[in-house]
Amino acid sequence: MNLQPIIDKVVQKNPAEVEFHQAVKEVLESLEPVLDRHPEFVKANIVERIVEPERVLMFRVPWVDDKGNVQVNRGFRVQFNSAIGPYKGGLRFHPSVYLGIIKFLGFEQIFKNSLTTLPMGGGKGGSDFDPKGKTDGEVMRFTQSFMSELFRHVGANCDVPAGDIGVGGREIGFMFGQYKKLTNNFEGVLTGKGLDWGGSLVRTEATGYGLVYFAEQMLNDLNTNFENKIVRMSGSGNVAIYATEKCIQLGAKVDTVSDSTGYIYDPEGFNTEKLNVLKRIKEVERKRLSDYAKEVTGVEYHEGSVWKLDKPCDVALPNATQNEINGEAANLLLKNGCKLVAEGANMPSTPEAINIYLKNNIYYGPAKAANAGGVATSGLEMSQNSLRMSWTFEETDVKLHNIMKSIHKSSKDAATEYGQPMNLQMGANIAGFMKVARSMLAQGII
Ligand code: NDP
Repeated sequence: MNLQPIIDKVVQKNPAEVEFHQAVKEVLESLEPVLDRHPEFVKANIVERIVEPERVLMFRVPWVDDKGNVQVNRGFRVQFNSAIGPYKGGLRFHPSVYLGIIKFLGFEQIFKNSLTTLPMGGGKGGSDFDPKGKTDGEVMRFTQSFMSELFRHVGANCDVPAGDIGVGGREIGFMFGQYKKLTNNFEGVLTGKGLDWGGSLVRTEATGYGLVYFAEQMLNDLNTNFENKIVRMSGSGNVAIYATEKCIQLGAKVDTVSDSTGYIYDPEGFNTEKLNVLKRIKEVERKRLSDYAKEVTGVEYHEGSVWKLDKPCDVALPNATQNEINGEAANLLLKNGCKLVAEGANMPSTPEAINIYLKNNIYYGPAKAANAGGVATSGLEMSQNSLRMSWTFEETDVKLHNIMKSIHKSSKDAATEYGQPMNLQMGANIAGFMKVARSMLAQGII
C-alpha cells in the first residue's frame, strides 16, 4: 500500500516540524509491505491514527535566575501512544528543543518501547532550557517550576518520564522531589532515580551498555566480535561514556569522543584510567572536552564534528544528537573501512547517510532498536518499584543483555519475513509496529 498520501498529510498538518516529518517518513516507508498483508490495519486506519499524538501539552515555565531576573522557558510533553502501556519516554533540556523535536522523539519511542517486549507506550517531553553554565540552584528552580505544571499530567500508571540530553540524575532528583511534594505520593513517576530512593542498578549504564550488546549481536552476524575493533564514537554524555566502558571491556579500541564544540582523538584508544578522567570531567565537574585534553597526554583536541576525522575505523557509534552523520560523513566512514553503524543517539543519521549504509553493505543498527536498552532498563526500574524490590547489578545486567538479544532477533526475524534479512531498519520498524497495531485494533476506535 502506498503511504505517501499519509506522509504528505503529516507534513501539511505539522508545518515546519522537519524532524517529525523525517521520523514519520522513515517508519512509514518500511510499513508499506505490512499493510499489503494486513487489510485489517488499513480498514481501521491504524497508520493515520498512529502518526497523530493522543495528547500534546505545551506550557510556560517561569523561574528566577541567580541575579534575581525572571526567565521564561517553554515546556512540552507529548503523550503519543498508550496502546501497550503507560506513556514512557525521556525529557530533553536543550536550547534546540521545540515541538517538532519532541514529536519526532515521541513517535520513535512508540516503536522502540514496543521492541523492548515490556508494556510501555510512547511519549517524550522537555524544554528549550539550557542547563549548560547554570548553577545547581538555577537548575533546581527551573526543574521545580517545570514539574509544577507537569505533575498533573504524569503518574506511575499514566506517564513515566526519564532523562535524555541535559537531564541526568541531578534533574531527575529535583523533579522527583517536587512531584512528591505536590502530590504527597512516593511513587515511580520517573525513572533514572537515585539508588537510595527507588532507582535501579544498571539504569545509568543501560543505554550505552545496551547499544554495545546490540552491536555485538550484529558483529556476530558478520562472524566477528569487538576484539581489536577501532570504534569511532561521538558524544561524551551518558550514552557515550557507558558505551565506551563496555567497548573497553570487550577489547575494542575507542579512539574518539565528542561534544558540541569539538572532539578528542586518541590514537591509543581509551582505557579505564582515561575513562575515569572523562567521567569526572563530564559527570562531576560538568566541564568541556577541551579540559580533558589539558589533563591527558597523548590525545588531540580538534574543534568541529568528529565525523570529519579521516582515519580508519571498523565500527561507528553515533551517540550525540539527531542528524549528526550526513551523506558526506557516511561516505567518509565508508572510505575509512567502517563495516557497522549502530545508533546510540536518536535519529543520528540523515536519510542520505542511511542510503549510503544500505547501498554499500555497512551493516546498520537503527536507533529505535540499538538504543532501546535505556528505556528497557527504565521498564525494569518500574517493575522493581511495583514489586518494592531491587535486583542486583548482575541480575539487571543479564536482563538488559537478554532484552537486547531479543530486540536484535525480532528485528532480524521481521526483516527476514519481509525478504530483506540484513535490513534491521525495516525489521525494527515492522516488529515494533505489529504489537502496537494489534493492540490499537483490539481496543477499538479511541
Ligand atoms: P547527554 O546530555 O548526557 O550527552 C549528550 C552529548 O551529546 C554531549 O556530549 C553533548 O555535548 C553532545 N551533543 C548534544 N547536542 C549536540 C549537538 N547539537 N551537536 C553536537 N553534540 C551534541 O545526553 P545522552 O547521552 O543521554 O543522550 C545522547 C543521545 O542518546 C540523544 O540523542 C538521546 O536522545 C539518546 N538517548 C539517550 C538515552 C538515555 O538513556 N540517556 C536513551 C536513548 C537514547 P555538549 O555537552 O557540548 O552539549
